[in-house]
Amino acid sequence: MLHLNDQSLLRTRAFVAGSWVEEPELGEFSVFNPADDKVLASVANTGPKTANTAIEKAVVAMEGWKRRTAKDRAHILRKWFDLILTNAEDLALIMTAEQGKPLAESQAEIRYAASFVEWFAEEGKRAYGDVIPAHAPDLRLLTLKQPVGVVAAITPWNFPSAMITRKAAPALAAGCALVIKPAAETPLSALALAELAHRAGFPDGLINVVVGTDAVGIGGVLSGHPQVRKLTFTGSTRVGKLLMAQCAATVKKTSMELGGNAPFIIFDDADLRAAVAGVMASKFRNAGQTCISANRILVQEGIYPDFVRELTRAVKALRLGDGRDPDTDIGPLIDGAALDNVDSLVRNALDGGAMAMAGGQASVLGGQFYEPTVLVDVTPEMRVFREEIFGPVAPVVRFSSEADAIAMANDTSAGLASYIYTQNVSRIFHMADVLDYGMVGINEGMISTEVAPFGGMKESGVGREGSKYGIDDYLEIKYLCIRGG
Ligand code: ADP
Repeated sequence: MLHLNDQSLLRTRAFVAGSWVEEPELGEFSVFNPADDKVLASVANTGPKTANTAIEKAVVAMEGWKRRTAKDRAHILRKWFDLILTNAEDLALIMTAEQGKPLAESQAEIRYAASFVEWFAEEGKRAYGDVIPAHAPDLRLLTLKQPVGVVAAITPWNFPSAMITRKAAPALAAGCALVIKPAAETPLSALALAELAHRAGFPDGLINVVVGTDAVGIGGVLSGHPQVRKLTFTGSTRVGKLLMAQCAATVKKTSMELGGNAPFIIFDDADLRAAVAGVMASKFRNAGQTCISANRILVQEGIYPDFVRELTRAVKALRLGDGRDPDTDIGPLIDGAALDNVDSLVRNALDGGAMAMAGGQASVLGGQFYEPTVLVDVTPEMRVFREEIFGPVAPVVRFSSEADAIAMANDTSAGLASYIYTQNVSRIFHMADVLDYGMVGINEGMISTEVAPFGGMKESGVGREGSKYGIDDYLEIKYLCIRGG
């Protein structure tokens, strides 16, 4: 049993139209703590029926919400923001318990999650239209920004709170209602946010959370229902493509935050200590289970030996353990399948001639703990170079010229985050130009913030989240052509 300051944040039913609901015929599903595999909670298993009801309720709730002033909406969002921060300790405990990340990271995620609510509460007030100089003397041309309609949000387990607020806050600020389907691994964080949204005073039906194990069935309703006008998704590229195809039948707008394969390029002239610190932050946060994790560390030959030595030293100092222990740097992976996949990528690299300077296997702690790993002599043929690792494994690849680094970096269908470390200003601008990525960290490994646009190119996604651009994904532009005057 999870002990919280406010036990009523621990919700185990779906949230629809302001009520906690279940579908008795579907029973319950268990939520596990990945650190010890113990059952944390039994949650009502809801499915397509609840998803349909939630959409109907959202349609009704949106009618009133979109007519309110942006300032009025901002006021309620601000209350939600305050409540998230006031309850940050409990929300972080829930997150660590169901997701496994160290408590300090959960606390940081709660602050990050809250920051989107604060930001978009303000941005909603600035959804300006335009007055356009007309093409004829007796015409007036105007644009209005209007909410896109009911939004469906499907979110992953790696950032169980932030991936919800990054979607819900701009949607709500724009005047939309939404139906959220969190990952079945981490429903408790989503439901706690819903409880706080309820307390903040959002009208019933405006925010709904459908929890369940039938991702295909629920996803089918959310992507197929004609009254959902926008689907926003964070998760795997495979499922993202599927959902885009399903959304085509009703021509829904989509936002997609999909997989990455981030190159982390370190040139000979880089500040070695900064580069190692950047890799540690980008690669090992959340046990490497982030879509902007350094996936391929490309190191120029001159700095390669020093870099490998220092990285290995830093990785060997990481403490693996239960996220609730304050000494823990890295928690467990989300489940056994994740561990098996990470291990198979490492085996494939070792079989192909790579060498493990640290780690290289599952931990003696057992369960879903994987040793923080440094692989050297990695080559582009290995799976670890081509696939998203989603684990605490740092593959190091040697390169000689800048042109080689660029070719290797762009040799992927992904295009989310990239990183470069160099002191050379002209190289910084050249690399920023030629990298086919939505985001470039330059001498910086931690790039996420609510004030900047997060998103990918190529198969990493569609749309941007956060920043002044993030609300556009939830707004339609309506053009008015007025004769006379
Ligand atoms: P991950 O590898 O991070 O688990 P997924 O893409 O499998 O990524 O999951 C992200 C979200 O998508 C989760 O909420 C999951 O339940 C949901 N999901 C998985 N498969 C489908 C599907 N076929 N249709 C709709 N949603 C899905």
